[in-house]
Amino acid sequence: MAERWRRWEAPIRIDQVNQALWLPDGRVLGEAEITWSPEQIERFRLGRKCANCLEPQEHAWPERCSLCGYPMRTHQAEFFAREFGGEGYVHRGPDLGEEMERLDEYRRKEEEARGNSRDQVVHQGRQESG
Ligand SMILES: [Zn+2]
Repeated sequence: MAERWRRWEAPIRIDQVNQALWLPDGRVLGEAEITWSPEQIERFRLGRKCANCLEPQEHAWPERCSLCGYPMRTHQAEFFAREFGGEGYVHRGPDLGEEMERLDEYRRKEEEARGNSRDQVVHQGRQESG
C-alpha cells in the first residue's frame, strides 16, 4: 500500500504561457502555468514536494530531493516565494509535453503499485436468463 505522503495528485490545470525561449542548441524552453489544489500547494510550501521534479518527499525539507537532487532546503522556499502566484506557478522546463508524459508514467506506476482495481470491470455473476 502506498504511503499517504506519496499519493499522486495531478495538477488541476496546465496553461501554456505564450513566451518561450529558444536556446542556441535548438531546444525550446516552454513555460506553462500549473495549477495545483490547495493541498498540493501546501506540500510545496512545507517542503514536502519537490518544486523541480514534483516528487513527493517523505520528510519535509530534505537537503536534496530524493529523486532529482534539487537542493530543496536552500532553494525551494525562495522558488516558492518567487513563482507561486495564488494558486499556480510558472513551470520552466525543456519540454512540458515530455514532462507530462513522465508524470503520467509516474502516475501509472503509482496506480500499479497501489494494485489499482477500480478500472476493472466485473463480469462475474451475470447470468443469462432465457
Ligand atoms: Zn526533485
